[in-house]
Amino acid sequence: MPTSTIQSAKAIPGNIPLILRVAVNAPLNRYFDYLRPDGLQSKRLRPGMRLKIPFGRGETMGVLLETTASSELPLSRLKRVIAVIDDEPVFDEVLMKLLTWSVDYFHHPPGEVFATALPALLRGSRPLPSAPEQWRATSLGQAAEPLRRAPRQQALLELLRERGSLSESELPGLFSGWRPSMRALHEKLLVEHSAIERGPAMPSPESPNDISLTGPQQKAVAEIGARHDHFATTLLFGVTGSGKTEVYLSLIRRLLAKGQQAMVLVPEIGLTPQLIQRFRERLPGQLAVLHSGLSDGQRLEAWRMARSGEASIVLGTRSAVFTPMSRPGLIIVDEEHDSSFKQQDGFRYSARDLAVVRARLHGIPIVLGSATPSLESFHNVETGRYHVCELPERPGNVAQPSMRIVDLGAHRSDHGLATPSLMAMHAHLDRGGQVLLFLNRRGFAPTLFCTECGWIAGCGRCDARMTVHASDSQLRCHHCDQRCAIPDHCPQCQEQLIPIGQGTQRVEEFLRKQFPGVGVTRIDRDSTRRKGSLPDKLDEVRSGRSRILVGTQMLAKGHDFPDISLVIIMDADQGLFGTDFRSSEKLAQIVTQVAGRAGRAQRPGEVLIQTRFAEHPLLIDLIRDGYAAFANDALAERREAGWPPYSHLALLRAESPSQEDARIFLEAARREAEKICGDETCLLGPAPAPMEKRAGHFRAQLLLQASQRSNLRKLLGPWISKLENLPQRRKVRWSLDVDPVDLF
Ligand code: ADP
Ligand code: ZN
Ligand code: ZN
Repeated sequence: MPTSTIQSAKAIPGNIPLILRVAVNAPLNRYFDYLRPDGLQSKRLRPGMRLKIPFGRGETMGVLLETTASSELPLSRLKRVIAVIDDEPVFDEVLMKLLTWSVDYFHHPPGEVFATALPALLRGSRPLPSAPEQWRATSLGQAAEPLRRAPRQQALLELLRERGSLSESELPGLFSGWRPSMRALHEKLLVEHSAIERGPAMPSPESPNDISLTGPQQKAVAEIGARHDHFATTLLFGVTGSGKTEVYLSLIRRLLAKGQQAMVLVPEIGLTPQLIQRFRERLPGQLAVLHSGLSDGQRLEAWRMARSGEASIVLGTRSAVFTPMSRPGLIIVDEEHDSSFKQQDGFRYSARDLAVVRARLHGIPIVLGSATPSLESFHNVETGRYHVCELPERPGNVAQPSMRIVDLGAHRSDHGLATPSLMAMHAHLDRGGQVLLFLNRRGFAPTLFCTECGWIAGCGRCDARMTVHASDSQLRCHHCDQRCAIPDHCPQCQEQLIPIGQGTQRVEEFLRKQFPGVGVTRIDRDSTRRKGSLPDKLDEVRSGRSRILVGTQMLAKGHDFPDISLVIIMDADQGLFGTDFRSSEKLAQIVTQVAGRAGRAQRPGEVLIQTRFAEHPLLIDLIRDGYAAFANDALAERREAGWPPYSHLALLRAESPSQEDARIFLEAARREAEKICGDETCLLGPAPAPMEKRAGHFRAQLLLQASQRSNLRKLLGPWISKLENLPQRRKVRWSLDVDPVDLF
């Protein structure tokens, strides 16, 4: 694959055929050369424009990378571009650099990288959207006699007179099927339209910020603000509830006053509706919100507003990192440790890491915020690559919650709740507090078991147990979504089957009986599937109608529950002995994040961590000294073991209906790698994935580990080209994951 530098299209003498290098929307790991279309002025072509091109037997979309005078292929074999779709590039220079950098770094097919970066509606040949128009009545229309024969036109005209003007984005909601009537009114010269001009919002610099910042917050704003005119990465390490969001708001206000735009990336907007609300209420100007819950049309409109500069703030999830901005000034990545910033299939990029690269390309500052920063980010602070600002306390007199271990081995427990935990619940509820129970396992029970012969309900397609779902009497596999009715009897011995272990549904049922009249709310993927149900549930808890909250890790993400005074982590052991070298980091993050939901208002919080391993050094470390101390020790362990950030990984995955084929492909891949790399890169495997069988496919993997990133990069390019031509590849599905987050 040629690594290309972006250049602006130079005027080329007319007699030389102009060759266009194109990222074609196809799963192939290289760029393609085309001839320029007939009769096209070369000056019209600029990198970042979309082209309609012949490909295979059909046509597809490609993005112009550069124009060159020569190709590796003879000119006679090059096809001609059919049409230039855009009058102006869809990607500006910085985005083009970011995307070509991504292609080189992640070794993913360029066409797919470029397509991922576009809103779905622009992945074909649909033209770039223009600003919506607004309609109003003309003076003729203001004075017109009622249109008796055309009641719909009359109604629409009346609506316009009443409202002054209406935009094309508002009209469909107010007057369905408005277009034909509007057209008729337009022909009668009763209405007129014009493009909406929404300039950037400019708050006056001294516009009051309704909260006065604490000392550490002011210091953070001052320090980060001082780096406003160049690239610098700051880790904002603030305990939960310390007011990181207030720091962001304050930084963004300053930026808006200068007419610049801010980009804010968050893990999952659907889970934190109040964040959008807070940004809307506290900041002037338009907010472009981009997340997976939008329709393609809404997404395109948000993208357009960001690109045109009409929106001053871009707030979005992972893929929003590719949103164009006309006046970028600052990027913020909130909860930077969160694994949802990593795309887990297809083009496996890390939005957090790409945000840092993007900020560097723009020459603007970036802030990574978290109460539990990733070990990578701590390491970057240690090596001097990142600055750090700390918010060690919560504003006001709110104390950090106290944490305590509850030894499951030493106490009786009922439905997964040890006696001291139940007693603490009673005490907090009696005092008017609220209780949060965290259990990262949805469903009724994780196992259906025969007490007679030991049979366990397993998934036929995965190496996994079926989870019991009581609400609809089903067994479900949480890995492939296979479902079936709960069998009446053991299929082996006809004896009775019983559900073993706790899921959130079962805990909810138990608590309703145990604490009648208190109100129990469950929040997990099952209970919030219906649109709008999450805000309702959050409201149940915030209003106090419900005082016990049970949920999965959906609860760990940034929700504010001011009256929660007790948090119980029901099963810390799920994370203590994971197969992955990141398991302990993830456990420490989730314990700290969930614990942070306690005592946010004026109630002292208490956190109970239930475990069978009360002596586990990690837990003791975390509880006694906090997350920073844990991170310090965990980094020392990583250094010792040579794991990231002290080494660099790439994972080659293969899956196939045949166990054999996956292994054979990876063995061939390993031999190829051995030919290319010296001993700088360590090859581990092939080995079966931790869950070998999933959805009927056998999965295996080969891990590459290098102490220097440059060694890994030198190997990957040539290696991928070899893999694409291995005969053994035909029987498997394979993918490369650079900087994998999950090693399975
Ligand atoms: P984080 O983003 O770190 O979780 P937030 O910015 O959401 O923290 O702040 C947590 C709570 O503390 C919010 O209710 C917020 O309004 C309040 N808060 C933050 N900063 C201040 C301040 N300087 N003075 C008073 N209250 C504050
Ligand atoms: Zn049995
Ligand atoms: Zn399954």
